[in-house]
Amino acid sequence: MTEKVQNIIELNNIGYSYHSLHGETTALKNISFGVKTGEFLAIVGPSGCGKSTLLSIIAGLLQPETGTIVVNNPDGSLHYPRIGYMLQHDHLFEWRTIYQNAILGLEINHMLTKDRLEHVNRLFHDYDLDKFKDKRPSELSGGMKQRAALIRTLAMDPQLLLMDEPFSALDYQTRLMVSADICKLIRAAGKTMIIITHDLSEAISLADRVLILSGRPATVKKELSIHLSLPDDSPLAARNAPEFPNYFSQLWEELISEN
Ligand code: ADP
Repeated sequence: MTEKVQNIIELNNIGYSYHSLHGETTALKNISFGVKTGEFLAIVGPSGCGKSTLLSIIAGLLQPETGTIVVNNPDGSLHYPRIGYMLQHDHLFEWRTIYQNAILGLEINHMLTKDRLEHVNRLFHDYDLDKFKDKRPSELSGGMKQRAALIRTLAMDPQLLLMDEPFSALDYQTRLMVSADICKLIRAAGKTMIIITHDLSEAISLADRVLILSGRPATVKKELSIHLSLPDDSPLAARNAPEFPNYFSQLWEELISEN
């Protein structure tokens, strides 16, 4: 018998507006979806529709105006999942070495225990960054910096990773390699991920499911589950899968349709 995987979180009818002296901007309206434990969910939508606002709400940085977020923990407890947030830029501090950057969150939160430091050291080893621990961010390639930023995020042992266009600062070729590489590492770590991207190909190649949002105020226009036949795990394999063009055109049609 297969065990039913629960949603780690569920959003029900989430709405949000920004208020300023110039008036009200409604960013999100009636947004409902769940994310299963271990699932990779990509969110795409037109620029300015409300994607980052949605991620900030999930992260707990903004309070929704309407709606609720429900959490499901396997042990029945009500604690909110531990969140890791990765942004467009790696935001590594140049005045700290890569290793000092990686343990910054642990340091700030007074969590520098032996076990956690061992975990960080293991990640440096697994991600082939051992030799670069004492380097400054500017001495590393874009891909290595993203790996270091990922170690900093994973050091806090998040259950849910929120990624806001994490690869968009990289050039195209590096982006292909790094996105496939980082997602493989996140899958291996058994994490759940929500990734925002404006790149449909990236969404299809990295995610188990894609949500398409409408223009502002964002509503969920369509949900598409992705199943690709992959001959190998190279960064290009997903893009060469026979199902890929069909998914791409479905998402594209939805993105450009008016309603
Ligand atoms: P996206 O991530 O899809 O590009 P955002 O979530 O950043 O969109 O923004 C959604 C809308 O809310 C945009 O029209 C943006 O201008 C507006 N917005 C974002 N942040 C603020 C803010 N702090 N105050 C007022 N309006 C904002």
